[in-house]
Amino acid sequence: MPRPALPEVLLAALAALLATPAYADTLVDNVQGQTIGADGHVERFKAMVMDDAGVVKALIHEGEKTPKKGFQYRIDGKGRIMLPGMIDAHVHVMGTGFAALTLDLSDTKSLGDALAKIADYAKAHPDRPWLLGGGWNQERWNLGRFPTAAELDAVVADRPVWLERADGHANWANSAALKAGAVTAATQAPAGGEIIHLADGSPAGVLVDNARSLIETHVPPPTARDYDIAFALAQQDFYHRGLTAVADMGATMEDWQTFRRAGDANTLYVRIMVYGAGIENTIRIGGPGPTPWLYADRLRLNGIKLLLDGALGSRGAWLKAPYHDRPDTRGLPNFTQTQLGNLMSRAAMDNYQIAVHAIGDEANAVLLNAMDDLSQTYKGDRRWRIEHAQVIDAPDWPVAARVAKSVGLVASMQPIHQTSDRLMAEARLGPDRLAGAYAWATAKANGATLAFGSDTPVERPDPWAGFAAAITRQDENGQPPQGWQPQERVSRETAFAGYTSQAAYAGFAEKRFGRLAPGLRADFIFVDTDPMVATPEAIRKTKVLETWVGGGKVWDAAKPEGGAGGAEPVKK
Ligand SMILES: [Zn+2]
Repeated sequence: MPRPALPEVLLAALAALLATPAYADTLVDNVQGQTIGADGHVERFKAMVMDDAGVVKALIHEGEKTPKKGFQYRIDGKGRIMLPGMIDAHVHVMGTGFAALTLDLSDTKSLGDALAKIADYAKAHPDRPWLLGGGWNQERWNLGRFPTAAELDAVVADRPVWLERADGHANWANSAALKAGAVTAATQAPAGGEIIHLADGSPAGVLVDNARSLIETHVPPPTARDYDIAFALAQQDFYHRGLTAVADMGATMEDWQTFRRAGDANTLYVRIMVYGAGIENTIRIGGPGPTPWLYADRLRLNGIKLLLDGALGSRGAWLKAPYHDRPDTRGLPNFTQTQLGNLMSRAAMDNYQIAVHAIGDEANAVLLNAMDDLSQTYKGDRRWRIEHAQVIDAPDWPVAARVAKSVGLVASMQPIHQTSDRLMAEARLGPDRLAGAYAWATAKANGATLAFGSDTPVERPDPWAGFAAAITRQDENGQPPQGWQPQERVSRETAFAGYTSQAAYAGFAEKRFGRLAPGLRADFIFVDTDPMVATPEAIRKTKVLETWVGGGKVWDAAKPEGGAGGAEPVKK
């Protein structure tokens, strides 16, 4: 027997009751609010009510009455633009943190410049046993020779310093580092390596290629404390830019334990949807399947990340036809379709969500065919993810559409890659394969969920630069003027959803965060620019004024030294 529907009048009374504030509630008012609504379109609001657990109770729209009484706290939005927290659907959390932790010399213009920066870094990090970093280039310093250990000793003599050259093929050591590796005048360089010597035969301080292993093997692996410090830096980078959640692509057990320590210490601010690096890490972390949501929806192991091919830049991406600029290669796959299918099957059986890095058109074809096959066995709402999905050949779109329809397909793409890669991609692919490159609009048209991200630390985790690229197909200098393959632009609404609701959906989190709606976590930001109307240049320059996660403020640009805190109590 069908249940009788509730009378309209009763429903209205119920809604009014829910919107009636309880004393522990917080009112956020005087805002220009925008979120993706339940129907997938932009919804505007002027105020929001949240409870003391940091969950949204109600949005108040134009024309509706804002309840004025009964709140414990009030946040005056001061007429500012309020959005849900942004979500980055593809990051490397610890890679971002460690990149922020080590010394970056890529902007130094002279040896003196670099030495001053190294000295400052040493002073700022008195308890780091080794000083690590990179980015130096003696050509840019106009030095005419390699730098020496003695020059480094003059600024840091008390502990090893070990700095990678910008090209990743040589390292610069001080005497303490040479000593740690027992590198002396008598040391023979291993095959494929070279030790640069001074005129007297002693090691000068630079080791090339394989010779670096003499010292590299003595660098202490990062401690748990190093992980904690790096993680704190990564979180800061995220919430300063308005990101309140990220999907971490390829976590190790050490990464996971770092997130858990932060959760236990109540210093986990940014929500993390975790994908384990390969099958071993995933099973070590999750055991028989995905973990529950932990720490009030701040952490969950969702699934597994697999790496099918490499990148276009280094010609590791797996292509159907040879590289346009190197006809003897089609790239380097890590697995055959059978091997890939076996790994995916193993993960799907345990209900792990699958996320596979696929860049080249052959990699994407192989992956889509593996997904298509497996969807016969593993049914239901799987949301299998392609990470990057950078080049897709026209005949493979129908397969994508079929997978999207049967088990759900996520195209996890990084708009800023299109602008950074444009000239390189043209060189690698030639003119005939560009139509399926970075094809955001086509992916969406074929039923894929479009989730946007940055791939930090490869690119900065800047959702505003990505937003601007997504709607223009132009770089920060407005190039090319008409947009590159402009048919693949997306609407502002699609870009907004790609960085909020769809990025949450891509991680099975849409009932928890990603929009501002009753029952969802109150993750929101105040910004100085309205991305729905501003020019792309203005969107790129968006200033995040405040970031709130679960109803608590984690960042305030007006109080950068101590932004964390809460709302103002209502004055009686
Ligand atoms: Zn990545």
